[in-house]
Amino acid sequence: MNIEKLRVAIKGAVIPAGDPAWESSADELLWNGRKAPVRPALIVRAAGVGDVIAAVRFAALEGIRISPRGGGHNLSGIARQEGMVLDLGALNHVRIDASARIAEVGPAVTNGELAEALEAQGLAFPVGHCATVPMSGYLLGGGVGWNSGNWGFGIANVESIDVVLADGVVRRASAAENPDIFWAARGAGPEFFGVVVGYRLRLQPLPRAISTVVRVYPLAEVGQVTTWMKAAMEVVPSHVEFTAAIQSAPGSGGAVKVIAAVATVFADDPAEASRLHVEIAALAPTDALVVEDEMPTPFAVLYDIIGQFFPVGHRYAVDSAWSADGSDAYITGLADGIATAPSATSFALAVVFPPNRPRPPEAAFSIHAPVWGCIYTVWEDAGDDAANLAWLRRTADAVEAQVQGHYVGEADLERPERRRACHTPEVLLRLQAMQKTFDPQGIFSRPLPKASFGLDAA
Ligand SMILES: Cc1cc2nc3c(=O)[nH]c(=O)nc-3n(C[C@H](O)[C@H](O)[C@H](O)COP(=O)(O)OP(=O)(O)OC[C@H]3O[C@@H](n4cnc5c(N)ncnc54)[C@H](O)[C@@H]3O)c2cc1C
Repeated sequence: MNIEKLRVAIKGAVIPAGDPAWESSADELLWNGRKAPVRPALIVRAAGVGDVIAAVRFAALEGIRISPRGGGHNLSGIARQEGMVLDLGALNHVRIDASARIAEVGPAVTNGELAEALEAQGLAFPVGHCATVPMSGYLLGGGVGWNSGNWGFGIANVESIDVVLADGVVRRASAAENPDIFWAARGAGPEFFGVVVGYRLRLQPLPRAISTVVRVYPLAEVGQVTTWMKAAMEVVPSHVEFTAAIQSAPGSGGAVKVIAAVATVFADDPAEASRLHVEIAALAPTDALVVEDEMPTPFAVLYDIIGQFFPVGHRYAVDSAWSADGSDAYITGLADGIATAPSATSFALAVVFPPNRPRPPEAAFSIHAPVWGCIYTVWEDAGDDAANLAWLRRTADAVEAQVQGHYVGEADLERPERRRACHTPEVLLRLQAMQKTFDPQGIFSRPLPKASFGLDAA
């Protein structure tokens, strides 16, 4: 591999294995404190789109695989592959045209940065639930964001993308231009066959009165709480986001488990927000352990709250699922799992969507259902990897009968079968055919993992 040739061609950094900066740079690629064992031969930090083009052409010439890295937030560590990892962290421009309600953003712009920039102009976007996740992989996977029950998933609000394909040429893809590439980029996740270097996003007016009420119940009441949440979502408008958080009671060290029903209203005026919270409360089981009264939760506050659940540097694994959950068995199954979690900081979330939730556009994002659940396994000690991963798999398997499919952004991609279960068979076939057309050398292909790395160590 002629690294010097690449160094001359790009403005950003080129860090081959063996370089003194390689070890720490390879670890920094992944947000998770638990690092996937796959080691890149080469890390390229793109300074701009020109570098992306040069890196892709170099990879094609040398016949090495290239893995774009947005923010390394996929907890399976899939962004770190053998061959070249192309770090897009510097592609972080935000340009907002408030009158046209359009934002042009680089892939590295995070949810928190975008929400803040838009808020200053009275605008919003269905940004994801965690501030530090970038648009890059978030939108490529689908983008299940705040107020998605009303605004739709992130991809429903994408006007166009700019993408560098394996031939090293930038193309725009939208409903009108290269529609097949546009179709794929909205949901393919790791099955995508190019590098997204820019998104053009349609914006929403900023809800001026976002507020949240939390009611906490003993875990044993999961059935009543779930029934209430669903009944509430039948009657309130779709700009209510209602989430069950199944977790350890604060300060209990894991000895006490609870289910918290978290209702966030994305309203325009405070009176409407309060009225909706009253409507929701009217149906609630009456024996809550704790009621946190209505609090204003603009995006910055929502991100502060969520951030407490995801301490930086901890070890993580996650699995996600879409469930129709007609029988409540899915959320009850998550609760059964949390009751036996080896780590007190592990938790599960289940968002109950409104019955009239907007349907996603015709795109590679092909599986969704009324309930979106995630099992977050969070621990600190590498010696506990095997126990925590085994628990995650047991819990996910126990609810599998209630699952329609998995969400690629938060699926347990260390399980080879999960990658396939994130798309319908028809979509997977179409993506595979497109990979052959647009990336005949397979430079963007990501081999399925042989087995989960945490369990290998056990
Ligand atoms: C704490 C936390 C909270 C989360 N909350 C949500 C949530 O609320 N909603 C939600 O939908 N998701 C959520 N996610 C999941 C997250 O959106 C995905 O994991 C997403 O892939 C992260 O983006 P990334 O750019 O960091 O991806 P990376 O880890 O960098 O990459 C993931 C995959 O996408 C590919 N990829 C990334 N960027 C590009 C690009 N520009 N072009 C081509 N391929 C690319 C990579 O090669 C890799 O295969 C959350 C994740 C975490 C860690």
